[in-house]
Amino acid sequence: MRAFACPLSYKKHPFKRPLMPHNIAILGSTGSIGTQTLDVISRFPERFKATILAAGSKVDQLIEQAIAFRPSLAIIADETKYGRLCEALSPLGIECAAGSDALADAMERDDFDTVVTATVGYSGLLPTIRAIKAGKQIALANKETLVVAGELVTRLLAQSPSKVIPVDSEHSAIYQCLVGEDSATVNKLIITASGGPFRTKSREEIANVTAEQALHHPRWQMGAKITIDSATMLNKAFEIIEARWLFDIAPERIEAVVHPQSIVHSMVEFIDGAVKAQLGIPDMRLPIRYALGDASRLPSSERPLSLADYATLTFEKPDPEKFPCLTLAPYALTKGGNSACVINAANEVAVRAFLKGKIPFTGIYDSITMTLEKIPFVATPTLDDYVATHKAAIAYAEKLTGCKSGIIH
Ligand code: MG
Repeated sequence: MRAFACPLSYKKHPFKRPLMPHNIAILGSTGSIGTQTLDVISRFPERFKATILAAGSKVDQLIEQAIAFRPSLAIIADETKYGRLCEALSPLGIECAAGSDALADAMERDDFDTVVTATVGYSGLLPTIRAIKAGKQIALANKETLVVAGELVTRLLAQSPSKVIPVDSEHSAIYQCLVGEDSATVNKLIITASGGPFRTKSREEIANVTAEQALHHPRWQMGAKITIDSATMLNKAFEIIEARWLFDIAPERIEAVVHPQSIVHSMVEFIDGAVKAQLGIPDMRLPIRYALGDASRLPSSERPLSLADYATLTFEKPDPEKFPCLTLAPYALTKGGNSACVINAANEVAVRAFLKGKIPFTGIYDSITMTLEKIPFVATPTLDDYVATHKAAIAYAEKLTGCKSGIIH
């Protein structure tokens, strides 16, 4: 096992700390992670400055953010909103751009040091690759980048001075547990899962759940896509894939455990039997601060964890019979190639189809497996192969679910 000792490790290229303030680009600034990143930046004005803000389609919120944070560039992916953006921000001297190409092109600018990749789904892949090629530091919140193309992204990282610090709470926890440790002494990564809103429901009850029920996550306030992924537990399967690439560890050494209180954010087991865990209240601002601060500890203004408030912390095995999406992690990691790219694309469509009432909750897993059967397998995909696989899987899943996903191909 090479564990975490190479491409994405904090041991790799000690990042040259930029002069203060540290300039930050946020991809997905109007989403859940994006707004919390801006909250962190606003608490450390001498330390961080948001210099690029990019959003999908929420132009009015992006304008509000740009007026408050005064970036040098604001980007809206939805090109129909470009006029509105320019009208509001050009008089303030803020440069404006639109479209997904503009987003990827911006990654080569020299007015930022770290990019927070907080877009949803596959859309994070191409800008992240451009940022890696440009040698930027990556605060990785978009797990799909590593799910879709982990092998390619890892290879590019090995050739770049870029360093990745995860923002996903579980991976941030593992990263924190690994600091100061020898990678050769790592036995196992233990990723915790809240179990989502349907943990205690029977298989029959799960078959009939509504979108409203699925959107009600018991512990975390997140965007709709990741909340549904948490309900199916595909999010945990994705996090296992993400961990495999992020820490360069053999898939059989990664395990998920259900921990409904979401206080232990993940653990690392070492060869001497010791298990290290990182604990905290469920609040994404901690992993965001840690990533923006280049793996350093910045003071929190949130209420600290009081273990006395939690009489019991419980752990249980996940149930792949009830949550078959969990089986997609070992499947994708064993099969490799473009299989996880197909799973991600089919899921992006299926989640939208479920939210629109086109398919039942259990239809999400069925749509993914049917798309997997249909899309040709590519053992060693290039970037073009990933792009083609994504498009083909989106098109097939749309036909299957009868749902125009609105995903930009
Ligand atoms: Mg997570």
